[in-house]
Amino acid sequence: MKKIVALILGFIILSCGTNNHISENNETTEITGEIAQKYANSIIVSDLKTHLYSIASDEFEGRETGEPGQKKAAEYIKTFYKKRNITSPLGDDDYFQEIPTAHLRSNLNPSENVLAFIKGTEKPDEILVISAHYDHLGMENGEIYNGADDDGSGTVAVMAIAEAFKKAAEEGNRPKRSILFLHVTGEEKGLLGSKYYTNFPVFPLVNTVANLNIDMIGRVDDAHENNPDFVYLIGSDKLSTELHDLSEAMNEKFTKLKLDYKYDDDNDPNRFYYRSDHYNFAKNNIPIIFYFNGTHQDYHKPSDTPDKINYELLQKRTQLIFYTAWEIANRDKRVVVDKK
Ligand SMILES: [Zn+2]
Repeated sequence: MKKIVALILGFIILSCGTNNHISENNETTEITGEIAQKYANSIIVSDLKTHLYSIASDEFEGRETGEPGQKKAAEYIKTFYKKRNITSPLGDDDYFQEIPTAHLRSNLNPSENVLAFIKGTEKPDEILVISAHYDHLGMENGEIYNGADDDGSGTVAVMAIAEAFKKAAEEGNRPKRSILFLHVTGEEKGLLGSKYYTNFPVFPLVNTVANLNIDMIGRVDDAHENNPDFVYLIGSDKLSTELHDLSEAMNEKFTKLKLDYKYDDDNDPNRFYYRSDHYNFAKNNIPIIFYFNGTHQDYHKPSDTPDKINYELLQKRTQLIFYTAWEIANRDKRVVVDKK
């Protein structure tokens, strides 16, 4: 008996040793696995739908920067975080980073970024920023620009990802690094909210390890009409090969979307890399990924409404971003910047 036990024990020790060796060479597989999957699966269609029908409702009047409808949206987002005990990095009950009018365009009223925060365990000073703009175009000639895809879809994705990380934290699976959930204002007026945040960051930019920015992920563009399980990724390898590789690995392992890098071409006339909030991080040498579904017939029109969103796809894309965030927040070392 004893001898057999010793043999089995020896075998177990050997096996463990072997596993450790594998994990060193295959970090991705070891870190983001079944635990992450449990929380990714808590991101569900019905929640995304409920919040998007609210954010993109007529009540919020198209969420134009500085206008009453946008204030309502800001309150809605704040209430969402408060209810779930997801704190603000600005202090008790203060979820708004006010932007003085001097930093906005002259015709705009004061506005605010909305911030929520989950503190990391081992490396709390290293910050991953997950962002989306919550402003849109407002109203014109009595018509409301609901902005369900642009960028209600990104707004509810950030909220859902925060909720999933909060659930993980409550069950003892808090991320190693901290995560800032950043709802920026003034994007449609010229990336003003993200510009303000990066000029007056709450956490030093040198400690900001990456930015995942979401702007329009609820629809399908003409190019993918017949094969809608896709998302455009922009900028993923511009500063960090490692970020690009881990993003690919997460998708391959879990979400299996077609990742389309068409807009990464430097010669693409759309220049999307420069056209949403991630650019304010990228220009500060922070690696970014921009998640995007391309433009469509309702882009920047009053017809960008929540009934036209593909919620299953919105869920899958949000889960991809969650897995990527999980990996960035939990791997041993922060992602390396190896390009200029
Ligand atoms: Zn947008």
